[in-house]
Amino acid sequence: MTPLKVKKSLALIIALAIFVSCAAVNRLNFLSPKDEVAIGKQTAREVERSLRMYRDPIVLAYIDSLGQAMVRASALAQFQYHFKVVDAPEVNAFALPGGFLYVNRGLIKAASTESELAGVIGHEIGHVVGHHGARQISKRYGFAVLVDMIAGRGETSLAREIAAQFASFGTGLALLKYGRLAEREADAFAVQCAVNAGIDPEGVARFFQTLLTLHNSEPKGVEVWFATHPPTQARIDFVRAEIAKLPPTDGLKKTSIRFDQIRARVLARR
Ligand SMILES: [Zn+2]
Repeated sequence: MTPLKVKKSLALIIALAIFVSCAAVNRLNFLSPKDEVAIGKQTAREVERSLRMYRDPIVLAYIDSLGQAMVRASALAQFQYHFKVVDAPEVNAFALPGGFLYVNRGLIKAASTESELAGVIGHEIGHVVGHHGARQISKRYGFAVLVDMIAGRGETSLAREIAAQFASFGTGLALLKYGRLAEREADAFAVQCAVNAGIDPEGVARFFQTLLTLHNSEPKGVEVWFATHPPTQARIDFVRAEIAKLPPTDGLKKTSIRFDQIRARVLARR
């Protein structure tokens, strides 16, 4: 960086330091969309190295096409989205900053209709659109992130550390726990996104209902999702209230033959 740029950066850091002291830290995001993509990309590499990935191209193509349809239905999706499947039996899905989304094999199995699966995908897109991951990173690493990004160091040790945190579930969970307000934001987003995509938004509520039932019968299988998405009847009620706010729309799709074929394919493999 030129000395002028360094000076400008320092001034920005000081200005932000004053701002931060009186701002609500939870809403703070030090990362630009470009930074989010850089961190997301590096984290995606770590995640895909440490988790077993599901490689069936037919299943991957379906998840990608459903995911991209949801992205197209969202006016706010500023990133290029990547959808992948993790070869794990637990019911879980998560999103990294910058548009890297993961759905577990167990989640495809647990969903009984395409609208349920689309609802979860919409919820995760909502976390990306709301920059919830970037806010968590800003909250946890504070100015270290800012200094790193301003310096434009690219693949920094900090970015690597963030990537490792995300990848190692357990500690990584802290970065995926966005809080109640962010969860509501993502739920409301999922409802709107589903309707825009011509998919029945009731799937969002129904999937949460399925998760509550699973929690009683097989708590281990939904542990991670439950740790990051506190499941309550209130949450289901909130989703239904969001749906009720929308004008009635005819012809919304509940499921598809393609979904049934893909689910059968996933079930047959294990
Ligand atoms: Zn969530």
